[in-house]
Amino acid sequence: MKKRGFTTTLLHTPYPMKDPHGSLNFPVYDSVSFEFDTSEDLEAAFSGQVQRHQYSRITNPTVEYFESKVQGMTGAFSVTAMSSGMAVISNLIMAISKSGNNIITSRHLFGNTISLFEKTLKPFGLSAKYADLTDAESVAGLIDSDTVAIFFETITNPQLEVANIRALSDLAKKNNILLIADTTVTPPSIFSAKDFGVDIEVLSSTKYISGGATAVGGLLVDYGTFDWSRFEKTKKGFKEHGKLIFKMMFKKQVYRNMGACLSPHNAYLQSLGLDTLALRTERSTSSALELAQWLEKQEAVKRVDFPGLKSSPYYSISKDQFGEKPCSMLTFDLESKAACYAFMNKLQVVRRATNLQDNKSLIIHPYSTIFSEYTEGQKLEMGLRETTIRLSVGIEDLDDLIEDISQAL
Ligand code: PLP
Repeated sequence: MKKRGFTTTLLHTPYPMKDPHGSLNFPVYDSVSFEFDTSEDLEAAFSGQVQRHQYSRITNPTVEYFESKVQGMTGAFSVTAMSSGMAVISNLIMAISKSGNNIITSRHLFGNTISLFEKTLKPFGLSAKYADLTDAESVAGLIDSDTVAIFFETITNPQLEVANIRALSDLAKKNNILLIADTTVTPPSIFSAKDFGVDIEVLSSTKYISGGATAVGGLLVDYGTFDWSRFEKTKKGFKEHGKLIFKMMFKKQVYRNMGACLSPHNAYLQSLGLDTLALRTERSTSSALELAQWLEKQEAVKRVDFPGLKSSPYYSISKDQFGEKPCSMLTFDLESKAACYAFMNKLQVVRRATNLQDNKSLIIHPYSTIFSEYTEGQKLEMGLRETTIRLSVGIEDLDDLIEDISQAL
């Protein structure tokens, strides 16, 4: 039979067992605990002889159904849903490393991820080495025997840079280190991480997946491509469990003990969001491309950054990896910070709020908000300017967006 398409696969993800009422939406099992008929059954579940839900911090049927939808849509080996994108990133880094290890990444990252590396993990002896990830050769020189991973964002937020993912994957494989991609800005309806050699994909499902900004959540998507037999923390268990060892280690050593589980209700909301993911990204990314092209022609606009623009230095690599409409986030520069503020204050359709890929278009001045905890020198190193505005394009009618931005300019 022909392989089903992206949205059909999502909508018809099978249930683990028949629902007694024939419910077409997988029910919300909003229960902390699950009952067993006998003490022997309890023992069998706790010792892992049978797979049963026991306690919702560890597994929950609604969360597991959401994970199975993501697995079907990505072709992943295993998927773990968590309480936020940051929970996934921090738990993953803790799982794969120990004091003395380092991770190679870029300073051009989401502000809280940089803060995680610098302020949260550094005191535990984990360091980040910063490179220009758009230049894979410069990355090679930084890898040493303590390096465990290369971590990058597919399109950096908010600099909108694009790395050559196949080049980073080749480098990671050659050195037996993990390639971890934060694909928040290019979710699976846009980018197939598996086809580009990413070992582990992390994404904030708060964004495109939840759609109407209904729930905070995160996903860890493991493609089963990494050789865990050569990795210090997993090489012993690999002999017995094969590539399942990563999920076992992650769940038992970090996920369960740190407790950042996704609530069943949020799993339900995100599961509904998934069903319309491809429709919404088609609309918002088309509008983003048209708006970027329109903004380039406006006199008050000094610069537009969007990898789908032919003027972007990343146009060709972006097209190869994400197609003609790479994302719905773009940035543009006005003359000064004061001009940015005046413009933003006049908007009537576009909302002044943080978050990305809400159904509503959102605007923010990253320099004075998301990155406000950094000094001017640090912000310069992060490629930020005080003349830049970030726009996350929603699914409104494009004419209304253009009219609103036009009157505010
Ligand atoms: N990664 C990127 C690229 C983001 O933009 C964000 C949030 O904006 C996150 C991770 C963190 O996601 P969450 O807010 O779900 O923790």
